[in-house]
Amino acid sequence: MNGYVQVYTGNGKGKTTASLGLAVRAAGAGLKVCIVQFMKQGDYSEIKSLLRFPNITVEQYGAGKFVRGNPSQEERASCARGYERLCQVLRDGNHDLVIAEEGNVAYMCGLFSEDQLLFLLDIKPDHVELVLTGRGAPQSLIDRADLVTEMKEVKHYYKKGVKARVGIEK
Ligand code: ATP
Ligand code: MG
Repeated sequence: MNGYVQVYTGNGKGKTTASLGLAVRAAGAGLKVCIVQFMKQGDYSEIKSLLRFPNITVEQYGAGKFVRGNPSQEERASCARGYERLCQVLRDGNHDLVIAEEGNVAYMCGLFSEDQLLFLLDIKPDHVELVLTGRGAPQSLIDRADLVTEMKEVKHYYKKGVKARVGIEK
């Protein structure tokens, strides 16, 4: 089966959950899935759920709270390790679906360069499906991807002051 490059970006809700839904679907078909999650650390509820799937691996490379501000030194170091690991997973070609969760955000925060982001597409074996999520996908990535979905924010309760809730946003 040929693998493609998918990007879920935009300001609306659903980027991370779309990728998790795809992971669950892929696992149901017996595919091997690796999720490399940038900028996040800790007990996001999806991690707890995905532990039940023998063919889904999740690795987190973040330094605590999910922030889009100035990344700490710890965040930078963790992200750099995540990037190396992502490259390794892609090169190995042992997983059918590889998800760079919040990879676009890591790029946007300057944790790796545009060249490094696009390099992932260069090293992806033909059979591997690569999904990059997060707001702020650069135009160069959009140009090279095979599928791009922009989650458009029509309304979001965040604007009413509703912060991320356990089980719904985290
Ligand atoms: P989900 O994980 O529910 O699929 P998502 O991946 O599309 O959502 P992100 O952009 O990763 O959403 O948002 C992470 C968190 O940032 C949200 O859980 C929410 O608390 C907060 N957030 C959502 N929308 C906004 C916004 N417009 N501005 C600032 N923060 C937001
Ligand atoms: Mg997200």
